[in-house]
Amino acid sequence: MNVKRKKLYEGKAKILYEGPEPGTIIQYFKDDATAFNAQKKATLEGKGVINNQISEFIMSKLNGIGVTNHFIKRLNLREQLIRECEIIPLEVVCRNVVAGSMSQRLGIEEGTPLPRSIIEFYYKKDELNDPMVTEEHITAFNWASTQELDDILAMTVRVNDYLSGLFAGVGITLVDFKIEFGRIWENDYSRIILADEISPDSCRLWDTATGNKLDKDRFRRDLGDVIESYTEVARRLGIMKGMPTVIQGGLH
Ligand code: UDP
Repeated sequence: MNVKRKKLYEGKAKILYEGPEPGTIIQYFKDDATAFNAQKKATLEGKGVINNQISEFIMSKLNGIGVTNHFIKRLNLREQLIRECEIIPLEVVCRNVVAGSMSQRLGIEEGTPLPRSIIEFYYKKDELNDPMVTEEHITAFNWASTQELDDILAMTVRVNDYLSGLFAGVGITLVDFKIEFGRIWENDYSRIILADEISPDSCRLWDTATGNKLDKDRFRRDLGDVIESYTEVARRLGIMKGMPTVIQGGLH
């Protein structure tokens, strides 16, 4: 008898299914792309396959340097096995160069390097358009404890240092990125781990030599060549050799 697996959650770009063992989840990467709080939508054929592999590559590297995260293993082209965790309702953004909402909010030209990296927090609430919050809001409303916030900040700095170097090595500037964290329980103790995904959907990646955008801004700003740019990121990182041909053939 075939038993249909249980869908736990469907988001804008991913679906979560119950995993094969307790404490595990299957994360499925869709081809759907959304921007501006889902006001703009499209299906970009092959995006899920590329992001699954870029995120696998980055999360595995981060696990290797001791930034504990939810990634266990990739299962197939679109799915990976992850650890179940309680998601902290925050989007943690780290910036090295002014871009996007920071440029608009503060009237500072996009591309201006920051004198030091800046970390911002946004409350994950689509109905409210993910408002920016401070550490005081986070602890006052018990979204995370002071200790957990310390861990989140320290891990974000490590992710930024590592990824900035990784991308610089392949001629890409890590302008900014968004990460999410979760809480896992071991007996009576909880611990913070990195969760979600790290891909061109959640980072701004500029070709260092030309300034060309290789990330989701190509979709947000109708610049075209979205899949080609994501594939270029994967190619430079040394993953998915020959991907363009596969994409042309169609991916399901
Ligand atoms: N970001 C994201 N999901 C969001 C909002 C932002 O992955 O819901 C990423 C975005 O791709 C960029 C960084 O976080 O790498 C900073 O985004 P910003 O605040 O500039 O917002 P945006 O201009 O994307 O609205």
